[in-house]
Amino acid sequence: MSKTNGKANGTTAASSVTGKAYPIVDHQYDVVVVGAGGAGLRATLGCAEAGLKTACVTKVFPTRSHTVAAQGGVAAALGNMGPDDWRWHMYDTVKGSDWLGDQDAIEYLCRHAPAAVYELEHYGVPFSRTEDGKIYQRPFGGMTTDFGEGPPAQRTCAAADRTGHAMLHTLYGQSLRHSAEFFVEYFALDLIMDRDGACRGVMALNLEDGSIHRFRAKKTILATGGYGRTYFSCTSAHTCTGDGNAMVLRAGLPLQDMEFVQFHPTGIYGAGVLITEGARGEGGYLTNSKGERFMERYAPHAKDLASRDVVSRSMTVEIREGRGVGPEGDHIFLHLDHLDPKILAERLPGITESAKVFAGVDLRRQPIPVLPTVHYNMGGIPTNYHGEVLTKKDGNPDHVVPGLMAIGEAACVSVHGANRLGSNSLIDLVVFGRAAGLRCAETIESAAAQSELPKDTDDKILDRLDKFRYAKGGTPTAVLRLRMQKTMQSNCAVFRDGPVLKEGIEKIAAIWRDAADISVTDRSLIWNSDLVETLEFDNLIAQASVTVVGAENRKESRGAHAREDYPKRDDVNWMKHTLAWVDYRTKLVKLDERPVHTKTMTNEVKYIEPKARVY
Ligand SMILES: Cc1cc2nc3c(=O)[nH]c(=O)nc-3n(C[C@H](O)[C@H](O)[C@H](O)COP(=O)(O)OP(=O)(O)OC[C@H]3O[C@@H](n4cnc5c(N)ncnc54)[C@H](O)[C@@H]3O)c2cc1C
Repeated sequence: MSKTNGKANGTTAASSVTGKAYPIVDHQYDVVVVGAGGAGLRATLGCAEAGLKTACVTKVFPTRSHTVAAQGGVAAALGNMGPDDWRWHMYDTVKGSDWLGDQDAIEYLCRHAPAAVYELEHYGVPFSRTEDGKIYQRPFGGMTTDFGEGPPAQRTCAAADRTGHAMLHTLYGQSLRHSAEFFVEYFALDLIMDRDGACRGVMALNLEDGSIHRFRAKKTILATGGYGRTYFSCTSAHTCTGDGNAMVLRAGLPLQDMEFVQFHPTGIYGAGVLITEGARGEGGYLTNSKGERFMERYAPHAKDLASRDVVSRSMTVEIREGRGVGPEGDHIFLHLDHLDPKILAERLPGITESAKVFAGVDLRRQPIPVLPTVHYNMGGIPTNYHGEVLTKKDGNPDHVVPGLMAIGEAACVSVHGANRLGSNSLIDLVVFGRAAGLRCAETIESAAAQSELPKDTDDKILDRLDKFRYAKGGTPTAVLRLRMQKTMQSNCAVFRDGPVLKEGIEKIAAIWRDAADISVTDRSLIWNSDLVETLEFDNLIAQASVTVVGAENRKESRGAHAREDYPKRDDVNWMKHTLAWVDYRTKLVKLDERPVHTKTMTNEVKYIEPKARVY
């Protein structure tokens, strides 16, 4: 089977400055989507359905994207298992974001969530069912009723504990049905930007045969996922290297709120593999070495279902104060052994298996050893709620970058602000994937011709490729990557402190400097994993730098960003987004800010005033 159902427009030759000639295969599309996770596939499907000529470029087979690992479910106020309202979902999301989320975007998300889930159902996602045949919904952290006053909401729609898997397979099938063209195992190298700052497409390397492809498009949509792999212990796939984010930095555009990194409370100790929050949603609870259900002390109301930042911090405090479990007292137990084995088999079959494989535990009888583990990146490419990429230009913080869009975990819309609520990412993927498709349908004239590209657009991209392909230094990529991951793990962790962060900035800068001595041993272009991992490392190190610099700069605690030297949220000085650019000559990060959108999208809901977060 051919892995590509797309067709080329022709081939031209281009040579890099080092003189190596690369034949370039040309393609023209209305839209090129980079990434085939939940976000990329939903946008691809939307564009193809609208009759736009659409390509989807992805470095892994679509159904291997990290979305496939999403277990717990997708949030939408359907009200199938008790009263619910999208306004309550909006309230919870604003509160969960610790008032850093943009309220117009959050309104858009929560208002459109139910329709987006029904649409998934109609496309064919096999959701679990209630007795009377409705979509099954489970409770998740931070999801409440009646504007935080009522009991927990059952809002998270689930297909057992394989929701992401079900979504990806359905969306991929539907995209093929609408004749979207897929370029599978093509590694996107960089954006093609013209001199006016507009994006004109993307260059990619076909990993199978080493050919270089130039995709010209009226809109380029980045859906490249998060960058969890900057850390040593994370739940994300090895492919989560934030390639799109780094392409944006190299294009001279900013990333937003990168200091906000979510730690999931329940990564399996040692392996980092995720145990879904759905496990606590089904009644699981955490204990310390004294057998205490300690979350009752930290969050008397929500207990084990407080938001993730709160639970992760509480676990870290327990361990620090000597109440961790295990021989070294360095982790916590998650109990599911009191639950009916029938429920476990029906609703949590995947994690029953993960616990056995990765912790050697039979969760029907034993607790699972867990530890907070890096899980999600709230920060990313700034966009509005149509998915259009923004930058700050001539004093305008919402200047739209022509031709460029971003969605999914790569984007920062920002609906998650300083902390994402569980099951709010999958809904973000489909709501904003859909929004991006609608925007493309509105703004693209399919018949209009694309103007010529400036002559030298390819040179920089091919030079970077050559620089790494022929790198003759003495330090293997894996060594540099490990140093970066360990530094991020110890210097930009659940709790942060000025001096530790400053040391982190120095260490990351030193690793980046040492990368001048990087060694790549394989010079070929066919399945060259050495080269691909090096390109990915180069993407990661820029994001590590932006993350730690942003964290040092933000002198307050908000959401997932917990400063021991500034333990309070400071709305007067810090209720604002961080924007970060990288100067690639000096490898220095430049920071600026953008106001949080305090206006809602419609008059139907009012701005939700900041208050203390109590769970
Ligand atoms: C273990 C786990 C469980 C989770 N469970 C839940 C949950 O239950 N509910 C929830 O709401 N959220 C959950 N999340 C979060 C959520 O799954 C992710 O945020 C979301 O799936 C990201 O989707 P995405 O489409 O943005 O990117 P991804 O699914 O990561 O896909 C990225 C795509 O980009 C492509 N790509 C990347 N770089 C390149 C490149 N250079 N060239 C070409 N293609 C490229 C990849 O091939 C891939 O197709 C979970 C996350 C993890 C890690």
